[in-house]
Amino acid sequence: MPRSKRHTERYARQIDTPGWGAEGQKRLGASHVFVAGIGGLGCAAATYLAAAGVGKLTICDCDLLELSNLNRQVLYSTVDVGSPKAPLAAARLRALNPDIEIIPDLTEIDHANAAGLIGDATVVVDCLDNLETRVALNRAAIATRVPMVYAACSELTGHLSFLRPPDTPCLECFVSRLPPAVEPAIPGVTPATMGSLQAMEVVKYLTGIGEPLAGRLLILEGTEPRIDVIQIERDPDCPACRGLS
Ligand SMILES: [Zn+2]
Repeated sequence: MPRSKRHTERYARQIDTPGWGAEGQKRLGASHVFVAGIGGLGCAAATYLAAAGVGKLTICDCDLLELSNLNRQVLYSTVDVGSPKAPLAAARLRALNPDIEIIPDLTEIDHANAAGLIGDATVVVDCLDNLETRVALNRAAIATRVPMVYAACSELTGHLSFLRPPDTPCLECFVSRLPPAVEPAIPGVTPATMGSLQAMEVVKYLTGIGEPLAGRLLILEGTEPRIDVIQIERDPDCPACRGLS
């Protein structure tokens, strides 16, 4: 099948979404999304971004697959345990959509390399699982002025926000108020939900549909269930974005 016909058929069920159209699809195809972490959140986010036709995805994760990952990290198989996750995920995503570029990166993100890793990305998706690396990514996103879609999970609770300081808070303006992420229980359904919501924020931003979750924090309380969206403000004393304008 010629590429153009394949393209039309592959994206036929999304292109009629109001505000999407051929233009929105073209913008997705021209975008580069940097997915930091390909665990539970990353598996969900990257899957829907690849399926939607984001033209270039960088999958950055230095971890090897562990058996205890498989309750939530659904891009992998039991036989993959012990192998590095980024190339495994890239292979699965290429099988899903061979018409996009997927770059696995095994670099461990830190303060020194984060901005370089983000490079020319259009959006960063924070699918990380520890605060230290999140802070490095936050600082790099601020330095490069690339918007970042943040999510975090614990048990049946999830948080989500679209961060683009100085228009919105940055991660460090509000994250200290969140519960500490010390190896919390993470049933697969929670990152599946929150990673999908991250992909939705990215797709909205790239196509220009609707309003990003900017200056607001979405809180999913799965036990009740309830979804709240609260306003969040910049912290004038924030060590990361203080004085940014
Ligand atoms: Zn800040």
